[in-house]
Amino acid sequence: YEAKRDRLEFAVFRDALEPAPSSTLTLEAALHGALARQELELHYQPLFRTSDRVMIAKEALLRWRHPELGLISPAQFIPLAEESGLIVAIGTWVLQQACRQAATWPGVRVAVNISARQFSRPDFLAVVERALACSGLEPARLEIELTESMLMRSPDAAAELLRSLKALGIRIAIDDFGTGYSSLAYLKRFPLDTLKVDQSFVRDIAQASQDTAIVTTIIHMAHALGLEVTGEGVETEEQWAFLRDHACDSVQGYLLGRPAPE
Ligand code: C2E
Ligand code: MG
Ligand code: MG
Ligand code: MG
Repeated sequence: YEAKRDRLEFAVFRDALEPAPSSTLTLEAALHGALARQELELHYQPLFRTSDRVMIAKEALLRWRHPELGLISPAQFIPLAEESGLIVAIGTWVLQQACRQAATWPGVRVAVNISARQFSRPDFLAVVERALACSGLEPARLEIELTESMLMRSPDAAAELLRSLKALGIRIAIDDFGTGYSSLAYLKRFPLDTLKVDQSFVRDIAQASQDTAIVTTIIHMAHALGLEVTGEGVETEEQWAFLRDHACDSVQGYLLGRPAPE
């Protein structure tokens, strides 16, 4: 449904802009050749340790530089890529490119978003292994970002895959934590390193709100389980100060740095 809606919106958008293009031209059709035409690129957004604002990682965020439409955000084309299966090739390229670029940085980690379809492929472990081997990146400097729903689909298989990924030496983060339908009981089953608290909870933390209670509770629980916590979407000094004062380990957001090309 998501993808169909995007196609419709795209069609409407095109019609409003200029004379109708050939009727078969859809975002999805254009996406098929985007990788080969080298229209995809990674931008990076920094993550900072909260205590001293030292940069500790950069998250790779995919962008599509469309020749006519300009920069297209992943929210628009990832659902299409998921639906068509293109995400597998795109995701492999993202992992390879991110590892290759990170290998040239001094010290900081790279975080890479993984899609559900990519994660459920039997060769996912091999794809990660190859990206590390080809780039020479130390495994400890790669963190993959998964979502709760990806783990919940078949928890036993996911737990086994995560153990194999951990055995490579990489880190594992849960992205958008708190927005999924997972049970907290699962947190202890998976070998995780980081919970990234979704930006929807961070928005109102500085004004005493229900989110204040939710975020402080997530931080306490994570630390009790030996996990680190990242606050996503930090836009104000107040949000940053709140997360620092409540021992959130790292922060990411427009206040500290926007996604930008390499
Ligand atoms: P995400 O992984 O949760 O990434 C964070 C998103 O929040 C990014 O949007 C980032 O630009 C945005 N953001 C960062 N700081 C702030 C802030 O202070 N305020 C606000 N309002 N937003 C902020 P972006 O780059 O548009 O990416 C959207 C989503 O697309 C990502 O969410 C991720 O789920 C997905 N995505 C991005 N790159 C990839 C990729 O290479 N592969 C896959 N499978 N998914 C990707
Ligand atoms: Mg992410
Ligand atoms: Mg997120
Ligand atoms: Mg998000």
